[in-house]
Parts: sequence; structure tokens; C-alpha cells
Amino acid sequence: QADTAMYHAKESGRNNTQYYAAEMGQRAVVRMELERELWRALDSDQFTLYYQPIMCAQDGTICGAEALLRWHHPERGMISPAEFIPVAEECGAILKLGAWVLDEACRQMQAWQTAGIAPARIAVNISAHQLRQDGLLQWVGECLARYQLSAECLTLEVTETAAMERPENAIAILNALRQMGVELAIDDFGTGYSSLAYLQSLPIQSLKLDRRFVMHMCVNESDADIAAASIALAQKLGLKVVAEGVETVAQRDALVAQGCDMLQGFLFSKPVPATQWPALIAKLSRC
Ligand code: C2E
Ligand code: MG
Ligand code: MG
Ligand code: MG
Repeated sequence: QADTAMYHAKESGRNNTQYYAAEMGQRAVVRMELERELWRALDSDQFTLYYQPIMCAQDGTICGAEALLRWHHPERGMISPAEFIPVAEECGAILKLGAWVLDEACRQMQAWQTAGIAPARIAVNISAHQLRQDGLLQWVGECLARYQLSAECLTLEVTETAAMERPENAIAILNALRQMGVELAIDDFGTGYSSLAYLQSLPIQSLKLDRRFVMHMCVNESDADIAAASIALAQKLGLKVVAEGVETVAQRDALVAQGCDMLQGFLFSKPVPATQWPALIAKLSRC
């Protein structure tokens, strides 16, 4: 259909509106296809979790792992979460997918605890849609109980933007999660538009400084200023700061000098499948 539309658009001369419409149509088709495959993938084990270590800035030990979703598509190979999470959000598949992620991350955490190689915490990303879902609280409680985990070893990461959606509702759910003992982190901090007053009203324990500020902090003064100001702000509010996307020693040193609490990035490790976790912690504890 998209091809036909494109053909007609071309046929009728260089009509920009029609070109545009055809391209939009094609995009919609690709999108629908992705949506259909997403639902199918949910029923056929195409998803898996990778884990990226979060390092303690003080002593360089591993203090956590963030679970990151991966989609092994049978024909298209690995599809990035940046590509499919927004689609899953829009079509509602994120609820089922997110429930699976939480269960799987907790299952893995229990397995690591049994093997004596668990980090202190496992961090799981929660989408805006999940935060709006009534069943979230119950599901978190059930997962913790199912794998006999204490709530203290679970961190839920919520983006600044998700926490800003329907604020009263978000605050109520976050408060209830916090009461269960779960830790809460604001993800991609600095990319949203939350006010300091709002931030202060959230029952959060940490801020994750977005990768884009870390990326250029050693070359761009304004990014360096944002990083420094975010760390200072977090400290004032009694929050811990995790820096995302730490790729160089210079970035690490600057962040540590500014008092950043935790570091995460390719400098330490890319996200790895659970099978590679034992080798990874052995390697990191030797550095
Ligand atoms: P995020 O939660 O901010 O996760 C950090 C992202 O930065 C990950 O991308 C990670 O691989 C990447 N990263 C970490 N260190 C570095 C670095 O040093 N350099 C670079 N270039 N990248 C680094 P990933 O795994 O592609 O995930 C992208 C986003 O997709 C996540 O951002 C999160 O928003 C979303 N996502 C991933 N898994 C889930 C999930 O299970 N549920 C939900 N709702 N969202 C998820
Ligand atoms: Mg995250
Ligand atoms: Mg992030
Ligand atoms: Mg990010």
C-alpha cells in the first residue's frame, strides 16, 4: 500500500504534500509491523535481559546492576530498546513486557544471590505506562516474594518525564513503592523539565545524570556545569548521584572529584548477558 501511495505521489509530479503523505504511510506500515511482531515476540521468548554494572565511585566495587531489555528478532537480529520501547508504550505491550522484565530481573537476582555473586542491588526501568497501571504495586510485591528478595535490593528507575505525568498519581504510587522498601531513582536526569519543588516532593533516593551531559563534560563547559550543578543539587537534597555513560578515565576522574556517588558506563562494561556476569565481576574486581 505504501509503495502504491509512493508511486502515485511520484506520478502526479513533485507534489511535496503527496510525497510527505506517502512517506508517512510507509512509516505507519513499518510501525504496525513492529507492533504486530512485538506482541508475537512476547509469546515466543525473543526477549532477554542484559546487565550493566553500576560502580561505587569511592572504592571501585560493583554496587549494582541495571537490567536492560534486548530483543533478539529472528530475522532482523538485535533490536535496540530505543526503537521498540516507545512502540511498546504506545500499543500497551509495555505492561506485559514490563511485568516480564521485573520478574526476570528478580529471578536473576535470586540466582546470583544463591551463587554468591549478586550485586547489592538490581535496577529495573519502569515506563510511564507502568507507573499509571494499578497492578504495579502488587506485581512488585509478588515478584519480591516469589524470589524471596528483600525490597532493599530492588531499585526502580523512572524517567523524569514519566514522573511528571499525572503528578498526583505518580507521587502516590512512588510513595507506596517506597513504603514497601524499594529504592527509587530518577532516570535521565536533566533531560526533562521537572521543577526543583516537584523533585523535592518525590520519595526518591537517587538521580541518574543523563549520558548526554557526561558525554561532553570534558570538552563542553556548559555540560560540565550542568553535571557539577546536578551533583551539587542532589547532595543538597540528600540524594545519591549515578552518572550514566561514563566512557573515559577523564570523565570518571572529573565525576569522582565532584562527589558523584556511582558510575555506570562502557569504561567499566557494556551491558552483558547474565551468562557473562560471573566473568565480568571477576575481571572488574581485579582492576
Ligand atoms: P537508560 O535506562 O537510561 O539506560 C542506559 C542506556 O545507556 C542503555 O542503553 C545503556 O546500554 C546505555 N549506556 C550505558 N553506558 C553507556 C556508555 O558508556 N556509552 C553509551 N553510548 N551508552 C551507554 P539501552 O540498553 O540501549 O537502553 C536504552 C533505553 O531503553 C534505556 O535508557 C531505557 O530508557 C530503555 N529501556 C531499556 N530496558 C528497559 C526496560 O526493561 N523497560 C523500560 N521501560 N525501558 C527500558
Ligand atoms: Mg535506566
Ligand atoms: Mg538513564
Ligand atoms: Mg538515558
